[in-house]
Amino acid sequence: MPALAFHHLSERISIMSETVQIVCPHCDARNRVPAERDAGAAKCGRCKAALFPGQPVDLTGERFQRHLAGETPLIVDFWASWCGPCKAMAPVFDKAAQALEPKARFIKIDVDAEPALAAQYGVRSIPALFLIKNGKVVAQHAGMADMTLLAKWVQG
Ligand SMILES: [Zn+2]
Repeated sequence: MPALAFHHLSERISIMSETVQIVCPHCDARNRVPAERDAGAAKCGRCKAALFPGQPVDLTGERFQRHLAGETPLIVDFWASWCGPCKAMAPVFDKAAQALEPKARFIKIDVDAEPALAAQYGVRSIPALFLIKNGKVVAQHAGMADMTLLAKWVQG
């Protein structure tokens, strides 16, 4: 019994120090990827899709909760189809995902579909951008953001 307990403990320590938990953008499965591996090339253990496809992912509020549990910093764009500045923001956000993954996950939330989530984050005007780490908002920006700001968020 003591040997088993020790084994269990050491296994937990190695998981904590050497792997990163990445939530799949396709099926929301939690994947543990070795920290030394290139996460940008990693595939989901469940659905086999790329964990970082180089593009933003549209999420519902329910799916978003699962992504909050991952260790990848999240950059969230609250938007709506009727919003002109949101349309201008979209290609910038696409380019940022392409350039900055796997250092961050780029997420789009449609405020018309998810008003409760938008209210939870205090979104009053759109586009509204948030940087979330370990489930907590660490930076936010109201209105259009450029690549420079998003790159700075990812590095900071
Ligand atoms: Zn998957």
